[in-house]
Amino acid sequence: DSVKPSNFLRQIIESDLEKGTYAQRRWAGTPGDAAHHAAGEPDPAKIRTRFPPEPNGYLHVGHAKSICINFGLARDYGGVCHLRFDDTNPEKEDTEYVNSIIDAVKWLGFDWNGSQGDYSVAPYQASDYFDFMYRAAEALIEAGHAYVDEQTPEQMRVNRGDFGKPGVDSPFRTRTPAENLARFREMRDGKHEDGSMVLRAKIDMASPNINMRDPAIYRIRRATHHNTGDTWCIYPMYTFAHPIEDALEQITHSICTLEFEDQRPFYEWLMDRLCESGLLAAPAPKQYEFARLNLTYVITSKRKLAALVNEGKVSGWDDPRMPTIVGLRRRGYTPAAIQLFAERIGVTKSDSWIDYSTLEGCLREDLENTAHRGMAVLNPVKLVLTNWGEVFAAQGGDAYLDACSLPALPHPPEGVESPARHFTIGKEVWIEREDFEEVPPKGYKRLFPGNKVRLKGGHVIECTGCTKDANGVITEVLATVVPDTKSGTPGADLVKVKAAITWVGVADGVHAEVRMYDRLFSDAQPDAGGKDFLESLNPNSLKVVTAIVEPSLANAQPDQKFQFERHGYFVADRVDHKTDKPVFNLAVGLKDSWGK
Ligand code: ATP
Ligand code: MG
Ligand code: MG
Repeated sequence: DSVKPSNFLRQIIESDLEKGTYAQRRWAGTPGDAAHHAAGEPDPAKIRTRFPPEPNGYLHVGHAKSICINFGLARDYGGVCHLRFDDTNPEKEDTEYVNSIIDAVKWLGFDWNGSQGDYSVAPYQASDYFDFMYRAAEALIEAGHAYVDEQTPEQMRVNRGDFGKPGVDSPFRTRTPAENLARFREMRDGKHEDGSMVLRAKIDMASPNINMRDPAIYRIRRATHHNTGDTWCIYPMYTFAHPIEDALEQITHSICTLEFEDQRPFYEWLMDRLCESGLLAAPAPKQYEFARLNLTYVITSKRKLAALVNEGKVSGWDDPRMPTIVGLRRRGYTPAAIQLFAERIGVTKSDSWIDYSTLEGCLREDLENTAHRGMAVLNPVKLVLTNWGEVFAAQGGDAYLDACSLPALPHPPEGVESPARHFTIGKEVWIEREDFEEVPPKGYKRLFPGNKVRLKGGHVIECTGCTKDANGVITEVLATVVPDTKSGTPGADLVKVKAAITWVGVADGVHAEVRMYDRLFSDAQPDAGGKDFLESLNPNSLKVVTAIVEPSLANAQPDQKFQFERHGYFVADRVDHKTDKPVFNLAVGLKDSWGK
């Protein structure tokens, strides 16, 4: 096992483990743990983290970073990471998203609540805690820490003040707890219109931190919730709900992105109040912030990704150009590559941009020794071996097909024997158009009249010329086969050549659709500084070509990855690939562009 580089989160956790900060925890029988643990039982997990997506869209590569951090820390320190749906916002949420998030976490290789791959244990969901959150709100009201405010949203906004300008107390701020309690119950019982009043925490309207100026904690919203249906017409605000969710699940380290730094004082204020009231037991969870992932040429906002889907700029959430987890998966990314990426970029407390090539490099690294090789001709022109019939007269002449083979894994992992690929060579083969030049540029080593090259895994051939159509377009490249030069036969290397080119036999080559993807945006920071990201869409982000592939590739299973020699890594499309209609996606090119 490689030693993981330390980071500030690891240091905090190691220090807590050393001090035994959470060693005495007992399950309280609250809704977050009741389903899994008996009250009073000690918590066997050393730490608890959580990944709390809102089920309002598909997860993207930024979420993948957060998943790898939270589940990875739990794994590394004998802890547990909860998958929790932060589903307190009924209008935007949907079970389609819930299911896609569960799939994404599983696919990345993680399970929740320490279930060791037992996925029959349901993930956590914030909406299961609505009763408790309601009780917590009443407890705040009773202790004089919350009030019902009937100012209009506009008055509330103006009276909140601004940076350097203190806010103004609401005229409703001095209501008694009894009045507030009665009002809040009326809100719950549907006696008031949506938006007519909110419950606010009573903290400090002059706080330099605007988040502490009596934030709203409950609002009226008549909306059907995908889990609780029409049980509630009031819903907790995220800032109030989230700390409670963490506490009920006995989370120890609540790790979020930097934009929540200003919310931390409220998180701590709320924990203190609820511990005082006896609703929660200390030690409360603590919030820590890390820098979100910014990846060049990529946008990581669910709202903006939704715009690409809804405006038909991509084929769907799983378009291979999308930075969603389903998109990356369809593009040919592997869980190992994404985990490697998360480790490599590390965890910091300051925002920065990660170059897209870092992600690509991780995929290459994972596929280099595991992806089977194969030859594919992406821009084919026919090569005719004019003397084939004479050289192989004894074996059947022009119709003769000579059997060839190459290893599928040139550098197999230790202890693994490479499978062989089998294909045939005959009088006609397909080669790349760019591998022939009638008048070769300086230093060109491939086919031109008079030059010899090897057909990789096949014979040495000598170019003799070409045929053209009426417009001067080359229709066939002509060559002769050099006898007794087949790869792997005695004396094959006696004829020296400077290049070996890829090819596929006309007799056994299979036509395949190949989708050549490029970056979706031509601007490295497509949405930075309020730019309209739709304006920098790369018009050439998808080119579809009909390629000819060797038979071993046509037999691919959907989702199987390959290295098309000299072209890059490709994956058989999970959705569209069929044995009788092969479809491949370019996952990532090779590091070095092929033999110039
Ligand atoms: P978006 O802004 O795209 O809607 P979000 O932050 O609202 O994303 P959530 O579903 O609330 O999405 O996020 C779940 C978790 O993923 C949060 O803890 C959030 O901090 C984290 N996360 C979201 N985007 C990134 C990112 N780019 N880098 C790292 N973590 C992220
Ligand atoms: Mg969010
Ligand atoms: Mg967001």
